[in-house]
Amino acid sequence: ETDVQAIRAIHNIKIRGKHNQRPITEWCQLALPQQFMSVIEDLKYEAPTPIQSEALPNLMSGKDLIGIAKTGSGKTLAFLLPMFRQIISQPDPGSGEGPIGVILTPTRELALQIFKECKPFMKSLNLKGICVYGGASISQQISDIKKRVHFAVCTPGRLIDLLTANSGRVTNLSRTSYLVLDEADRMFDMGFEPQVMKIIPNTRADRQTLVFSATFPPKMEALAKKVLNNPLEVIVGEKS
Ligand code: ADP
Ligand code: MG
Repeated sequence: ETDVQAIRAIHNIKIRGKHNQRPITEWCQLALPQQFMSVIEDLKYEAPTPIQSEALPNLMSGKDLIGIAKTGSGKTLAFLLPMFRQIISQPDPGSGEGPIGVILTPTRELALQIFKECKPFMKSLNLKGICVYGGASISQQISDIKKRVHFAVCTPGRLIDLLTANSGRVTNLSRTSYLVLDEADRMFDMGFEPQVMKIIPNTRADRQTLVFSATFPPKMEALAKKVLNNPLEVIVGEKS
């Protein structure tokens, strides 16, 4: 316990909410299948970053989470590993059933960056993912999402277009049990809150929900209270 307190003090980590998982210091503590470990080894990430170390064990145990840490702190892997873990633990989706994991992020560039990080896991775990963003052919994205798909990395506006295309549903999120709002502060600054709030009721009520952000303004806290279930808050590197 004192070790944990000392490490949290060094990295200036604050935890709010009920939590029972100790931070991990090594990847093997996650007890992930070999297909995950081979990718992590290939990436040559020696140890989890502070946000990964605190968030991952809690996410693996199914908790909702708000993760606040500056850009470049490794938030992507913190939400991807538990998503892939949850996907492989569930019955494989049939075509047209829609994705199990949905990641919302404000821009096409961010969506593509996250999707790139997914690729080695898709290969190793044999998963199908799609990247859904504006400014690209919607007909291709419609046909992709109608097929068997495990997860989707999306900008909010284009996902709504896909949900409502041809004035009928081209996909549904009724199997979506893992939802990430990434770069949530930017998503709000860019005015995507109405779209995000329109998407969420299409997902499963018993989903696991994650919010990741570099900053934590009050309006985000208000939204988080609405869409998260008893979340754990992990705040890294905030000046006290
Ligand atoms: P954030 O979303 O917090 O801005 P990213 O998830 O994009 O940060 O990660 C920033 C960079 O750090 C990426 O290049 C990523 O590959 C790398 N990275 C992630 N986790 C680790 C780790 N545990 N060790 C070393 N590098 C890492
Ligand atoms: Mg990021």
